[in-house]
Amino acid sequence: MVTFVGAGPGAADLITVRGRNLLETADIVIYAGSLVNPELLKYTGEGCSIYNSAEMTLEQVIEVMEAGARQNKNIVRLHTGDPSIYGAIREQMDLLSEKGIEYSVVPGVSSFCGAAAALKAEYTLPEVSQTVILTRMEGRTPVPEKEEISKLAAHQASMVIFLSSSMLEKLSHRLMAGGYSPDTPAAIVYKASWADEKIVRTSIDRLSTAAKENNITKTALILVGHFLGNEYERSKLYDPAFTHEFRKGSK
Ligand code: SAH
Repeated sequence: MVTFVGAGPGAADLITVRGRNLLETADIVIYAGSLVNPELLKYTGEGCSIYNSAEMTLEQVIEVMEAGARQNKNIVRLHTGDPSIYGAIREQMDLLSEKGIEYSVVPGVSSFCGAAAALKAEYTLPEVSQTVILTRMEGRTPVPEKEEISKLAAHQASMVIFLSSSMLEKLSHRLMAGGYSPDTPAAIVYKASWADEKIVRTSIDRLSTAAKENNITKTALILVGHFLGNEYERSKLYDPAFTHEFRKGSK
C-alpha cells in the first residue's frame, strides 16, 4: 500500500496525526527532499528505508514503490504542504493504477495556510474578498494563457502566488497591468513555519526590491490583496443583531 502524505509547510509538528502515524509504521519513505523538513524523518522507525526524490526520476520513484508493494511494505510518499497543490502526484497515481498498486492520499497543511498563519491574516474578509486565487508564474512548467496573472488580477481577489520568487519584477508588472494599484498591500513569506521563516510586508510595486533587501530568492509565497490592509466589515455570523440556526439575534 502506498500513501501520499502531506508533510505540512515545514515545522515538523504541523504534519497531521494520521501522517505522523503512517511515518511511524512505514517500511519505505520517499520524501520530496528539496522542501520537506528532514526533521520529519525522525518519526520513522528503525529499519525504514528512506529515499530523497529530489535525486530521482518519476520512473525511479515508481520502481521503489512497485518493489515495496510486491513485498507488502508500507510505503509513504511524503510531499511538502498539501500534495494536491503543485505536488506532481497525479502522474504517480496514474502509473500506480496502471500497475494495479493501491494507494491513498492524506492531506497536509499547505504553505498558503502556513503563510496566512505567519502573517496572522484572513484571506476572506467581508466586503474585501471572498475568493482566494492560488497560482504561479510560468517557469519550465507553462501556465495556460487564460490564467495569465494579469487576467486573474482583474478580479482583485486575495491572491497567493507559488513558485515565482525569482520573477518578482515581472510579477509586479502583471499584477499592475491587471488593475491592482501599485500600493496594493503584498507580503512575501519565506519558509513559513520553519525556524528561519521571514515575513516581509510590502506593496506590489516593491516586491522585487523587498525580496532583494531580505535576500529571498526561493521557497517563498507572494500574497497580494487588500486582505493585507486594515479595512473590512465585521462578519454577519458573529454580529449581535444577526439570527441564525444556533443563535437568536438581539433585534
Ligand atoms: N504542495 C506545496 C507546494 C509545492 S510547490 C504546498 O501545498 O505548499 C513549492 C512552492 O511552494 C515553493 O516554491 C514556494 O512557493 C511554496 N512553499 C512551499 N513551502 C513553503 C513555505 N514553508 N513557505 C513559503 N512558501 C512555501
